[in-house]
Amino acid sequence: MNITFIGAARMVTGSCFYIQTKEANLLIDCGFFQGSKENEEQNANSFSFDPSGIHYLLLTHAHLDHSGLIPKLVKDGFKGKILATNATVELCRIMLMDSAYIQERDAEWDNKKRGWAGKPLLTPLYTADEAADSLDYFQGIEYGTIEEIGNGIKVRFQDAGHILGSAIVELWVNEDASGEKKLVFSGDLGQKNIPVVNDPTPIEEGDYVFIESTYANRRHKGINETTEELRQAVTESLERGGNISIPAFAVGRTQNILYLLKKLSIGGKLDHLRVFVDSPMAIRATRITLNHPECLDDETLELIREGKFSGSNLSLEFTEAVEASMELNKIKRGAIIISASGMCNAGRIRHHLKHNLWRPECSVIFVGFQAYGTLGRKIVEGASMVKLFGEEIAVKAKIYTIGGLSAHADQEGLMDWLNKFKRKPRRIFVIHGEEETALGFVDAIKKQLNTDTCAPLRMEVVTI
Ligand SMILES: [Zn+2]
Ligand SMILES: [Zn+2]
Repeated sequence: MNITFIGAARMVTGSCFYIQTKEANLLIDCGFFQGSKENEEQNANSFSFDPSGIHYLLLTHAHLDHSGLIPKLVKDGFKGKILATNATVELCRIMLMDSAYIQERDAEWDNKKRGWAGKPLLTPLYTADEAADSLDYFQGIEYGTIEEIGNGIKVRFQDAGHILGSAIVELWVNEDASGEKKLVFSGDLGQKNIPVVNDPTPIEEGDYVFIESTYANRRHKGINETTEELRQAVTESLERGGNISIPAFAVGRTQNILYLLKKLSIGGKLDHLRVFVDSPMAIRATRITLNHPECLDDETLELIREGKFSGSNLSLEFTEAVEASMELNKIKRGAIIISASGMCNAGRIRHHLKHNLWRPECSVIFVGFQAYGTLGRKIVEGASMVKLFGEEIAVKAKIYTIGGLSAHADQEGLMDWLNKFKRKPRRIFVIHGEEETALGFVDAIKKQLNTDTCAPLRMEVVTI
């Protein structure tokens, strides 16, 4: 079989791997390229394969860098099946629809300007109707069951502990006399001991392993130290008398931060918190989270069962309407605003940054990965001035980065997971990491595990 590394090869975003066996064509993920402008422009390019020739798309999880191009895939002719865990199917329903609204709005905005300039108008990458069409192709499956999908292929999804519904994909391919080969795609692998979701499932067998490397060059602090870091940042910031903005993906990080803030306030370590979750999608995602106990860890289930999520000295408000979101701009102190997008490249967080970033008494707490080229990355790397809505905004607020809350395993976590394979894989492919990080991880794996390992280039074709 041939495998083409279409995206997330020496880069983090654009996750998509094309597998051609003798009998079937499969995709693992079909995600957005995100970050710099050049990256995002690639989303409009036509696919390098024929979408109508794909039989199955196996989706590891709902994040848009893995799922964002699915409506375009369907629009361009895909007629196969999209397999994902039940929670991922539910999350995609809200995330792909939201993504479509953003595409439509962006196209409308661009076309207004193009109209003035007499340029030809653009059509959105996909519309809400097209996103809704693509949802018909989804089929939910349970964690842990082996599905025979035909054409000599079996598949099983295991909990990757990254976000709700996230999966490691195990794929058995039997295409010729050379016997069955097992491929393992790690998907995005979570950190151990992070609240809300389970720890990543160890996999013991695999011939070819495809492992993510987002944070393969880091070492995260432990959860206790991280919780203390968050407590300190919040206490310090509130004492300075401003607001705290926390950019966070609506799915995953938002629920983690809420969980920790609640826990800190129940434990009496933080008092009188006024928390706003300013994202319509986060509200729906939180609801879906509570509907999927199979994805939640024991500690979270216990908190939910005891009803402690309500009844601490923390006031929590979800703002859905645009007007309610704008009202938040009038609050000058004491508000903790959690809002998307996590990398500050879109969404309501940009308004909150415009109102708070230039005020030295305010803070921004980053808790997730900031891809190269995004506004979040610029702020984290110390930019003194940024552009928001065409205006220059000074960065005077205090910037905190709390890496320990990351949804991605660090080098030790990734290596631990690889160490669980009982037999050495024939080959390990390092994917989903920036070039330097991926290459560094290749060296680390070779040194520690003495296994044939590489970081494929984009569009590289490997025959196995
Ligand atoms: Zn992810
Ligand atoms: Zn990812």
